[in-house]
Amino acid sequence: MKRYVVECKQDELSESIKDKLKKAFDGFMIYDSEYPELVISVGGDGTMLYCIHKYKNMLDQVAFIGVHTGTLGFLTDYQKEEIDFFIEDVKNGDFRFYNRYLLEVKTNKDSYLALNELRIENNMRSQVLDVSINGEFLETFRGNGLCVCTASGSTAYNKSLGGSIVCSGKGIMQLSEIAGIHHNAYRSLGSSLILDQSHTIHFESLDFRNAVLGIDQHVYDLQDVQYIDVKLSNKYACFAQLKKVSLIERLKRAYL
Ligand code: NAP
Repeated sequence: MKRYVVECKQDELSESIKDKLKKAFDGFMIYDSEYPELVISVGGDGTMLYCIHKYKNMLDQVAFIGVHTGTLGFLTDYQKEEIDFFIEDVKNGDFRFYNRYLLEVKTNKDSYLALNELRIENNMRSQVLDVSINGEFLETFRGNGLCVCTASGSTAYNKSLGGSIVCSGKGIMQLSEIAGIHHNAYRSLGSSLILDQSHTIHFESLDFRNAVLGIDQHVYDLQDVQYIDVKLSNKYACFAQLKKVSLIERLKRAYL
C-alpha cells in the first residue's frame, strides 16, 4: 500500500477536504506524514510551495499533487468541485509523473532550493549588483533588485515583472529586473534573459545592507553575504498527474 499525507491550507474548506480524503483513502493507502510517497496539497500554490519545502530532503522519494481551494492554483490540477473525481482517480491509480525543475542557490553562507524563484530585493535604497554568467561579467545592475525564476515560477512573481510565461517542463531559468534604473549614467539589460542548464549566474555586491534574499515564500537577510550563485539544480520536484491539464487551460483558468 502507498504511503501518503495530506497537507492543507488552514481554512475550513481545506480542512474538511482533508478529512474527506483521509476517510476515502482509509484502508487503501497508509497515512504517513514522516515518510510519504504521495503528498496531496489541498489549498493554493502557496500550499504547494509549503509542501515542496517541507519535503525537500526526500524529493527523490516523493510525488506531489494538488487540489485547489486557494485563490489562484496554477500548480494544482483538481478544482474543489472535482474532489470525488480526484478520489476515484487516485484509487484507479493511473499516475503519470513529470518533473518540475528547481533552482539551486548558493551563497558564501548557505544553500537553498527554489521551485518558483529567488529574489534579491532592497526596498530601502538602490541595490547595486554585479552580474556575471559562467564567469563572464555581464552588467552592473542598479534598482530594487533582480529575480531568477524557473519555468514553474514564471507565472508567479516573474509575471508581475513582465517576464515571459514558460511551459513547465522546460529546463530554463529566467533573469528579470525589479525596477531597474536606466538612464545615461546607469544601464543594464532591461529585458528578461532566459538561460539553460549550462549557465550559472553569479551576483556580487559590496553592500547588501537592507537587502533580502527571497526564496519562494521564505525571506532571508543577506548579512555577511558577499555573493549569490544560481543554477538549475539536478534535483527535481516530481509531480503526479492523473488528468491532463494543458498550459492553455491553466492560463485561462488563472488569468483570463
Ligand atoms: P502569497 O503572497 O500569499 O501569494 C502570492 C500569490 O502568488 C498567490 O496568489 C499564489 O497563489 C501565487 N503563486 C505562487 N506560486 C505561483 C506560481 N508558481 N504560479 C502562479 N501563481 C503563483 O505568497 P505564497 O502563497 O507563500 O507564495 C509565494 C510566492 O508568491 C513567491 O514565490 C512569489 O512568486 C509570489 N509572489 C508574487 C508577488 C507578485 O506577483 N507581485 C508578490 C509576492 C509574492 P495561491 O493563491 O493559489 O496560493
